[in-house]
Amino acid sequence: MTQGNDLFPPAAVTRFPVAGSDKTFPVRRVYCIGRNYAAHAIEMGHDPNKEPPFFFQKNPDNIIFGDFPYPVETDDVHYEIELVVALDKGGKDITVETALDHVFGYAVGLDMTRRDLQGEAKKLGRPWEIGKAFERSAPCTPLVPASQIGHPDQGAVWLKVNGALQQEGDLNQMIWKVPEMIAILSRFFELEPGDVIMTGTPAGVGPVVRGDLMEGHVAGVGDLKVKVV
Ligand code: MN
Repeated sequence: MTQGNDLFPPAAVTRFPVAGSDKTFPVRRVYCIGRNYAAHAIEMGHDPNKEPPFFFQKNPDNIIFGDFPYPVETDDVHYEIELVVALDKGGKDITVETALDHVFGYAVGLDMTRRDLQGEAKKLGRPWEIGKAFERSAPCTPLVPASQIGHPDQGAVWLKVNGALQQEGDLNQMIWKVPEMIAILSRFFELEPGDVIMTGTPAGVGPVVRGDLMEGHVAGVGDLKVKVV
């Protein structure tokens, strides 16, 4: 609905459903961390030991719940299965010790990546948006409240394509843990309720094609099933 002097109605807010509840979680920003599992950093040609964490963003409206339409302008779209963290409290200079107090809950998500465009951007020293922040690039499950599941920091993370295991790791292999990610992000950005963090992917990333079925799992959080259409 147009209000006041708006020239047109503002864009719709993306909302996570909350599992087992009629509540919803309105999304403000989507932060993503790169190369957060050593084995994935190595498969992408990087040294996992020397790099401080780095972040990029997807757009809030990139989050979808349902099928993943094969994107335009790519021949090499990759899956990246990730634990998704959802904050219901903001802050600046949050300490590692208090960081988890800011977490409402968790989801399972896919950081779908136009790898060919990302690779070209890397080579040319250009930003990653064209490879990462495209339409419908973040299929997710509903959020599961931390009040029900606690704060998962170990257990399997995997992704199957058409029943075949492609990605496999453990939450305990994260180089930068969830509280550290929140603390570091909050030094560089003012975090707010509605901010979401995609926490990086284990090794085994690869391409999908139309018709593929991606099934992802994060221990303690749940399962994600997404068809490429
Ligand atoms: Mn990722």
